[in-house]
Amino acid sequence: MTPEPSPVRGIRTTAIHAGESPDPVTGASAPSIVMSTAFVADAGVSFSAEDFGDNTPYLYTRWKNPTVDQLEKKLAALEGAGGSVAFASGMAAVTALLLYTLRAGDHLVISDISYAATAEMTNELLPRLGIGVTKVDMSDPANVKAALRPNTKLVYAESPANPILRLTDLEAVGRIAHEKGARFAVDATFASPIGIQPTQLGADFVLHSLTKYINGHGDAIGGAVIGSAQDMAAIKKEIAIRTGGILSPFNAWLIQRGAATLPLRMRAHEEGAHAVAQFLEEHPKVTRVIYPGLPSHPQYALAQKQLKNTSGMITFQVKDGLAAAPVIAKRLSVIHYAVSLGHQRSLVFYLPTRDMLRTSFKLTPAQEQSFRAFAGDGIFRLSVGLEDPADLIADLAHALDGI
Ligand SMILES: *Cc1c(COP(=O)(O)O)cnc(C)c1O
Repeated sequence: MTPEPSPVRGIRTTAIHAGESPDPVTGASAPSIVMSTAFVADAGVSFSAEDFGDNTPYLYTRWKNPTVDQLEKKLAALEGAGGSVAFASGMAAVTALLLYTLRAGDHLVISDISYAATAEMTNELLPRLGIGVTKVDMSDPANVKAALRPNTKLVYAESPANPILRLTDLEAVGRIAHEKGARFAVDATFASPIGIQPTQLGADFVLHSLTKYINGHGDAIGGAVIGSAQDMAAIKKEIAIRTGGILSPFNAWLIQRGAATLPLRMRAHEEGAHAVAQFLEEHPKVTRVIYPGLPSHPQYALAQKQLKNTSGMITFQVKDGLAAAPVIAKRLSVIHYAVSLGHQRSLVFYLPTRDMLRTSFKLTPAQEQSFRAFAGDGIFRLSVGLEDPADLIADLAHALDGI
């Protein structure tokens, strides 16, 4: 018998080994991809999610798949949590969590700034289902306290918030939610589990778009909810199996392979971002840089306290960003002008405040003021990849010369 692996190992060992073991039949050291949708079963095995449990054998891949299982175990271990459920995308994971925690008549308190699709879903779809939604600026925990109602079932934060890099004090907000009997979820995609492990700070649920840092190579979309074993078993049975937004085993295999190097990649993303952010801050054409690793970040003290890695996400502003964006996009040769983030390749995209306020964020005047304190009239959201920082700096210098 091989000994039970010790549950407490270093993060680099965890990223590589958690969830994986040599194939029992072939001895293959690297994980195999099991693409089979059906598994040969004993006669009499039930085909209803109602009977699904930890000991259910492999039967059908929408229920459970060996390759996806491996990734789910690795993600839970990276967070130090009891379990995780993988989904076809980050948004499928967000949807599953909201459907699991909320029903008609319930109330959600959510950050007024979040990933655009999360913001848009909570603007429209949840109210349509009879779920009340209050959006608050979570950079001040008092706003969360004031928004809670007797029927508030979930408090949902995103920190650092996409795209403005505003932070939430997760310990403070979690405490406020729990005092009133609400559960607490955190989208920690921007920080990755290397930057922050929200369940260790009191969160009940963590969301990740696996598409970003965890896969890290820009070639697979996926998402996950991470939390207690009990909640994850219930999300699997009540939501994942029945609504069907499950992750493909092929993507699980790619994402698992990416996740193995997450700790090393995050270190390099952080190092590159520091160098690039410093360069941008000193550049005469750049009017504002926001990076949680720089003392100029409005919440630098919180960043220092809460983030073990300040990640590779930077925003910067220039005069008349809307006019500058096409010039910069054309003059870049290493950095791709594209959406998404967390890839090995650096990516930049311009987000005009005017458009974001029209499409995604419905803000009160006070909330808009807080938003503009971070985003001005618009930001270049830069995801610093794993290239040589000197090449990224040269690329940006050339691009900024053109404006
Ligand atoms: C990208 C992203 C999502 C959505 O993930 P998809 O995999 O694109 O569905 C959710 N939250 C944050 C913070 C993101 O950056």
